[in-house]
Amino acid sequence: MSENKPLLSGGAQGTAPGYAAGGYGGAPPGQPPAPYPQGQPPAPYPQGQPPAPYSQGGPPAPYPQGGQQGGPPPPPQAGSQGQYQGEVPNTDLKDDPNARPVEASAPPIDKMDTVNGYENVGFNSAYLPPPSYDESQQPSAPERREFQNSPTITEEQAREALLGLVAENCCYGAGAAKEMDIKDLKSSSAFHYTLETYGEARSTTWAYEPFTGQPIDGPHCGPAPGPWDIAAQPPGMFQNSKVEVEVPHTASVKPCHQCLASGRIRCYRCHGRGRLHCSTCGGTGRDTYYENGEHRHRCCTWCDGTGRRRCYTCDGFGQVTCNICQGRANLKCYIKLTVTWTNHADDHVVERTALPDELIRGVSGQVSFEESQIKVWPINHFPDAEVNQASNRLITQHNSSFRNERILMQRQRVRIVPVTEVSFKWKDSDYTFFVYGFEHKVYAPTYPQQCCCGCTIL
Ligand SMILES: [Zn+2]
Ligand SMILES: [Zn+2]
Ligand SMILES: [Zn+2]
Repeated sequence: MSENKPLLSGGAQGTAPGYAAGGYGGAPPGQPPAPYPQGQPPAPYPQGQPPAPYSQGGPPAPYPQGGQQGGPPPPPQAGSQGQYQGEVPNTDLKDDPNARPVEASAPPIDKMDTVNGYENVGFNSAYLPPPSYDESQQPSAPERREFQNSPTITEEQAREALLGLVAENCCYGAGAAKEMDIKDLKSSSAFHYTLETYGEARSTTWAYEPFTGQPIDGPHCGPAPGPWDIAAQPPGMFQNSKVEVEVPHTASVKPCHQCLASGRIRCYRCHGRGRLHCSTCGGTGRDTYYENGEHRHRCCTWCDGTGRRRCYTCDGFGQVTCNICQGRANLKCYIKLTVTWTNHADDHVVERTALPDELIRGVSGQVSFEESQIKVWPINHFPDAEVNQASNRLITQHNSSFRNERILMQRQRVRIVPVTEVSFKWKDSDYTFFVYGFEHKVYAPTYPQQCCCGCTIL
């Protein structure tokens, strides 16, 4: 195949070379190759319109559908290009080494095919509410077993826990923990209710990428399936995740809108002139130096006195490879489906001592109740009414919150976290601290021997 044959011969008035030199599709020498292996011409413009007027070249060359046999025309080769033919500034620019290619813009939406069921797809992702589905999976509240109580701790465990806290804080004195006279241990249970709703959302957008000969699954392969009919499996329940899939039968090849199917665009550094001011002499062509007590001039050696130099970004051609089609001149356009799985989690802590509630979230406790259903029922049999109310409230809230998602599963859980309030006397003063969680974490904001109040270590 003719790897070196450019699609368009670079400059103005270029025409598509066709396939004469090639052997696309393996035609015997001397015979014209069959450009369409499937025997049908590509139909990138369903309404039969001609391609948009391309000022700098002929229409895009036709491609074999599927691209497996012929492949795309090779990209325009470096070196075979001419000078940039579009609009350029009248004078050389000051060099800006930080110049960057402009943000690529999306193709015009009216050039996209019309796909049944996807008429409103644009270049911004838009969510598609799920079709209504059977929500009455669970006709009645499930059988539920009794809740279990959580264990309590002993005086010794309370003291050990406090000594552990002292050991973690290098400037805490251990004396109080060792000598304290424990007066009372009050055991209680904190309840941590969590509700998770695992939902799937789907959104579509037009997408495009350089056409490099990849297979084109277009409308000729059949009608596009609906966005909620495309199979997608989450990696695991209650895990946040996202996949992107090409919607079958929506792809087509279109000439690149940015470079007008030439593969090249105006250089972003010299704006097409191919030259820049010489930054060494500032464009004057003269270099000033100091010798024998006076300023002297000489011809700038960097630009040979011309005051301008070739643009290194485009090698003086004024044009660079198109950043949208990456020089391929054509784009594969297709509808992209994004499937997003989100685990929405909310919780409620019931904790009735002076221990800050949020500390309960970070420690382990006994999972006293757990239930997973597509739609869970509010808990109504927990011994603590506040937990039942929280379950009711959060489930109602979740069931009306995620309108754009299909709910795959819900899970609710109650953890019972042991909390012990320890009262002690030390040096004639009364103190309290808390031991909580299976880890026996300690919350002792008033511990008597902290650094700032009586610590002897500096
Ligand atoms: Zn110079
Ligand atoms: Zn340039
Ligand atoms: Zn392009």
